[in-house]
Amino acid sequence: MATATLTIDLDAIAANWRALDRLSGPEVQTAAVVKADAYGLGVARVARALAQAGARRFFVALAEEGAALRQALGPGPQINVLSGHMPGDTEMISDLDLTPMLNSLEQITRHLEALPGLPFGVQLDTGMNRLGLEMPEWQAVAPILVEAGPVMLMSHLACADEPDHPLNLRQLDAFHEMTDGTGIPRSFAATGGILLGPQYHFDLTRPGIGLYGGRPFDTAHRSVTLSLPVIQTREVAPGEPVGYACSWEAEAPALIATVAAGYADGLPRTLSNNAVLWDGDTPCPLVGRVSMDLITVDVTHLSEMPRSLDILGPHQTVDDLADAAGTIGYEILTSLGPRYARRYQERRG
Ligand SMILES: *Cc1c(COP(=O)(O)O)cnc(C)c1O
Repeated sequence: MATATLTIDLDAIAANWRALDRLSGPEVQTAAVVKADAYGLGVARVARALAQAGARRFFVALAEEGAALRQALGPGPQINVLSGHMPGDTEMISDLDLTPMLNSLEQITRHLEALPGLPFGVQLDTGMNRLGLEMPEWQAVAPILVEAGPVMLMSHLACADEPDHPLNLRQLDAFHEMTDGTGIPRSFAATGGILLGPQYHFDLTRPGIGLYGGRPFDTAHRSVTLSLPVIQTREVAPGEPVGYACSWEAEAPALIATVAAGYADGLPRTLSNNAVLWDGDTPCPLVGRVSMDLITVDVTHLSEMPRSLDILGPHQTVDDLADAAGTIGYEILTSLGPRYARRYQERRG
């Protein structure tokens, strides 16, 4: 079997949630962001582990994701939908008890007309210019909306992973200006915002990447290991090329392992000639281009041929691999391919 194995440590994810919950402070609730299939790790298992750890409120991007999450969690936990109430979402929202985070006047009208009395939150734009009502729109509808009883007012920081970025304080001021005195619970901080400090926490924090062990939560537990089976090995003579476009050439006699994962599995082509895999504690350079289903690795220095090589593990985190690829940990995680066998580690009982 050439299927690679993605091992997901649910205990590590639960421990990361508890750590972020402690950092959020005793008066503050901590939600869990599980959009994009829990950042690629499998929403059903991840969300159940988080619920067991104590998470009661979850965030997804789409109503469809909310429906899958409701199936996994059953009734009870609050499921918030960041894209709000889109055309076609009404039935899902009411049948599966989803809470849309409304982000425009159009969505507010749609929700209040289609599902009067059903819960909703409101997203406010405080400077990111992506989702939510701007100040004049909010001022126009706030009196009616506050009456309708939103469960939450929320906004999102654009530069929270840069603590010194001036936009952080500007957004904080804008959020206060828009929401002070409303008496409605407020949510402002994702992982980066939690680390900025208590003035950013308000009533509910909503970490995502930190749960899965990614920057900027530097003390997070690592949650994924990715092991790629070796399909075959070959000796390559000096001057012989390896892979598409002959982008690597052996300078000395080399032993090359062909390994079962490629860009179709979420290993970016920018890793070509530019990453390491690990045999236990021994690094082995990736040589040549990343192709669709395969990569090639220089294992000349290994005394025994391993059955598999790790590209994510104790020696190489999601962020390390992202740095090598010129991207961010979020993108590495959410690109992890559907072909991997996902194995979940969890202490029982
Ligand atoms: C993705 C997202 C989060 C989670 O952010 P992390 O940086 O992964 O912690 C929180 N809030 C909103 C609005 C988001 O889009």
